[in-house]
Amino acid sequence: MKPHLLEYLRCPECLAELRLEAPTIETVERDSASRPVSCSGLCSFPALVQHERDCAACTQIEVMTGTLACTACSGQYSIDQGIPKLVVPGSSSEDAVTARTARSFGYLWSRVEPLVDVVPRPYHFEKMASALSLSALRGLVLDAGCGDGIDLVNQARSPDAEVIGVELSDGGCQTSFSRVARLVGAHVVQANLCRLPFGDATFNAIYSYGVLHHVPTPARAAAETARVGKNGARVAVYVYEDFSERFTGWRWLLRGVNSIRGLTTKLPPRLLFRSCCVASPAVYLLFTIPFLVFSRIPMLRTLAGSLPFRQARGPFSLVGDLYDRFSAPVEYRYSRAGAIALLRQARLTVTSVAYERGWMVGAVRKDTAGSLNEMGRMSVD
Ligand SMILES: [Zn+2]
Ligand SMILES: [Zn+2]
Repeated sequence: MKPHLLEYLRCPECLAELRLEAPTIETVERDSASRPVSCSGLCSFPALVQHERDCAACTQIEVMTGTLACTACSGQYSIDQGIPKLVVPGSSSEDAVTARTARSFGYLWSRVEPLVDVVPRPYHFEKMASALSLSALRGLVLDAGCGDGIDLVNQARSPDAEVIGVELSDGGCQTSFSRVARLVGAHVVQANLCRLPFGDATFNAIYSYGVLHHVPTPARAAAETARVGKNGARVAVYVYEDFSERFTGWRWLLRGVNSIRGLTTKLPPRLLFRSCCVASPAVYLLFTIPFLVFSRIPMLRTLAGSLPFRQARGPFSLVGDLYDRFSAPVEYRYSRAGAIALLRQARLTVTSVAYERGWMVGAVRKDTAGSLNEMGRMSVD
């Protein structure tokens, strides 16, 4: 944990400030374009902290272990291998589903560690930005459900943005943490989207790609996301489609896939992952090859565009996508109206919607009537 993250973090139980206790620190080489950060007092120049000065030494500090103690309630949260763990333990059935979700995705994200240096672009956020005509993100940005951290690292490379990735799973946190190790303006926090450990109105921009539909209560996660956005903050999310705007055949296919999911979501992660390794080349032949052929024939381009798994780069590149589709214990699907309603119920003002094998929805948090300034055209509302 980079020490200046502490100024943004709050107790997930009561939202009071946290105090760092018994830290062990390491010095980490950061990228040369590092920006200065406010002194944490953990460096060799602790006098700087009294004068609220920026500190070059503090940019290189990583708090590897320690405790974050709530200044108001009895909440105590550990920092483990550099990751602040701000998850509130619970015992409800929803918490049990959440724990299963963390286990299944954690397994997937921990498998991508060897690919740490391979960061594909454009990735999820950039696809949303282009579909929704969003400009580059600036200020403090929340990646709500950062998974293995590819978008997190891509966005954090911008000199104008500081990005905090929230991720529920151990595997996702660890892989994301190693990806952003050299970047001063990127952080990883382990937390639940339904109990974000940040104060109200903290972020300038928020994005969440393919996460809300895997949360047991998407409406609560959306409301939390809206809560931590500043007045005027831009929000972009992607959620699965329910195929209601497709031909009947697609809905049959979805029904078939859902009945298979009834079995596969109960498999141990390792066995399911191996099955996906076997299935990937078959899916590549069934969908990706037809896409590559159809997209060259003008008459068949619309059909090509509706095919799933178009993005495959090779026969074995679909393992992660298949695992995602067949492992997640919770999967909600949305119609166009449903996706818009999800954000509207969170009191966000929806500004644009794009259909990209699912719904990309752009919104803005608008506290007062006059605050929607240069948000551009309103294509919905
Ligand atoms: Zn310092
Ligand atoms: Zn507290």
